[in-house]
Amino acid sequence: MAYDYDLFVIGGGSGGVRAANRTAALGNRVGVAEESRYGGTCVVRGCVPKKLYVYASTFHEHFEDAAGFGWQVGDVQFDWKTLVANKEAEITRLEGLYKKGLNSNNVDVFDSRAELRGPHEIWLKAEDRIVTAERILIAVGGTPNRYTSLEGHELAIISDDAFDLDELPKSIVIAGAGYIAVEFAGIFNGLSVDTTIVYRGDEILRGFDNDVRELLHAEYEKRGIRIITEQYFQKIEAAGDGQKRVLLSGGEELVADQVMLAIGRLPLTEGLGLESAGVETDDRGFIPVDAYSRTNVPHIWAVGDVTDRVQLTPVAIHESMCFVATEFRGEPQMPDHEMIATAVFSHPEIGTVGMTEEEAGKAFAKLNVFRANFRPMKHTLSGRDSRMLMKLIVDAESDKVVGAHVLGPDAGEMAQILAIAMKMGSTKADFDKTMALHPSAAEELVTMYDPSYTVENGVRVGA
Ligand code: NDP
Repeated sequence: MAYDYDLFVIGGGSGGVRAANRTAALGNRVGVAEESRYGGTCVVRGCVPKKLYVYASTFHEHFEDAAGFGWQVGDVQFDWKTLVANKEAEITRLEGLYKKGLNSNNVDVFDSRAELRGPHEIWLKAEDRIVTAERILIAVGGTPNRYTSLEGHELAIISDDAFDLDELPKSIVIAGAGYIAVEFAGIFNGLSVDTTIVYRGDEILRGFDNDVRELLHAEYEKRGIRIITEQYFQKIEAAGDGQKRVLLSGGEELVADQVMLAIGRLPLTEGLGLESAGVETDDRGFIPVDAYSRTNVPHIWAVGDVTDRVQLTPVAIHESMCFVATEFRGEPQMPDHEMIATAVFSHPEIGTVGMTEEEAGKAFAKLNVFRANFRPMKHTLSGRDSRMLMKLIVDAESDKVVGAHVLGPDAGEMAQILAIAMKMGSTKADFDKTMALHPSAAEELVTMYDPSYTVENGVRVGA
């Protein structure tokens, strides 16, 4: 049977576009459909606008810090509408580049919702017609959890909305303490919004190294962010004048201009017609895949957030590259999810690679932990009360560096470079042999000669 396409990709985000381009460049007939805007979550309502807003939110601090260096900064004004408009122009430019790339690779680009209508059949809503494909890649990503079981949830915003608010709120209450909650709390606080985080657990950023979590918590409180732990939202209600009231599990009521839910993301698989093709999902709607990103249906694959492996843009892209290599180049490649560097663009920033101390303590009998907590050089003159943390976790037996955690300026940039060394299996001796670059913050990473303490069978000794 002749199909219209060798590959049809559903979803024009980072993963889908990379697969479409690469496959078409190899001479295959490829179609891609996107119901929203090309570029997907990362470009349109995630990483890119978020980073631009993080930049916007740091200027206040720079203006304050300047005084210690002799600068007198006069009255400053911030205009939210200018930021939103400039952000919009930039993502429109990037969206255009995504489409241009697809066109130049001769991919058939559909601005349309696409749904499966059979094992090889894809219905394009905008044209109300069905196309067929020999292979299908599902790269539809996810969307913020709107917590529909919460009374008054419709009064809250999600991260998608936060970028395009008509007005900058004077106050905001954010539910959750993962990447998105913590990053947006830093953004809003940096833009002088009275910001509160409400988290159900005992410390923000579960899954990160405990020292990093505690230090960021302290830094956020110094900056005026209120963090309420071990409580959750019981309901949200209108409080008049457009304000919202949140009732917390502990009985406290918080009133704010905006309430934001940042409690994780759900897959966009509802109504996708997966059942008509026989594609299975898990109980939360994510699509389970094998080590090559193949679903339970042999000619249908899935990559990126919809598979709930690691919800990060570079991971989705990498999974797509492996899929194309395996299926269209005849070079089987499994995505490698080990030692992924990641950053939280908080104030200060977090950069991390590999295991936390807690994870490593379970994996290895003995660890040497090297830790430095210091005032960044800039703040000797700025006078800002802010600390920087660097931490290396080393398996004592092999001397391999199995975890690196940085909190402070440019931590994300450091994590990316550290990841190369760690992916190559660097030992602590390799770090020690490396000449320091002075004066820098990163030199601490190669000058921590003696362990701060050890961890034996998961327990700190000499800390
Ligand atoms: P996360 O999974 O990081 O965090 C979700 C937060 O919400 C956690 O604090 C979680 O608590 C809490 N939570 C979950 N369910 C509930 C509930 N029912 N009631 C109250 N609190 C709840 O999700 P995010 O939405 O922050 O981000 C989604 C993903 O996007 C991330 O996992 C990350 O992979 C990616 N991302 C990456 C960024 C980056 O690389 N810089 C930036 C932004 C997003 P608990 O810890 O107790 O489970």
